Amino acid sequence: MPENKPRKILEYTVECPICRHNFKIEEFLYDMPLDGKVIISTGKCGNCGYRWNDVRLAEINGPRKIVVDVRDPNDVNALVIRSSTASIVIPELGVEITPGPASLGYITTIEGVLLDVLDKIIFLCQEGETPPETCVKKKKMVEKARNGEIPFTFILIDPEGASTIVSDKARILPLEKKEKRGEK
Ligand SMILES: [Zn+2]
Repeated sequence: MPENKPRKILEYTVECPICRHNFKIEEFLYDMPLDGKVIISTGKCGNCGYRWNDVRLAEINGPRKIVVDVRDPNDVNALVIRSSTASIVIPELGVEITPGPASLGYITTIEGVLLDVLDKIIFLCQEGETPPETCVKKKKMVEKARNGEIPFTFILIDPEGASTIVSDKARILPLEKKEKRGEK
């Protein structure tokens, strides 16, 4: 599909957050068949190998959250465009992914986010900081959620409005005051 080829729109230099060397970031505009224009920025530090990636909607929408009620196995296939400023919250699973100073943006699916959560649980369990019974319980819950066996709410909170979820079920809501300030 040649018309969907990303087009380079910008190039700039940033300081590496790890080693302070300068490196180049390139930005590409990509036409998403379903959800309009997306800007993907990418770069790699030539000195230490640190990789930078971000993604955001070309049209900024202002503070908002996007909510999907996951009720059947197909719902986890929804595409998630998460910019580096956005948080992900799944209350039923106790999941809260908040953006840090070196946070990256990415395009994934709800299932992709759950797999990341699973990886993190496995990692923390190997570190031995979580009791084994809790590990087993948490892993089972995330796996069930992934298979559509338990209903859950997937919430993407973006104070910039540069993120979205591509799904018929996605509801767009305004942010509450404390969500705008990034408080819990
Ligand atoms: Zn570096």
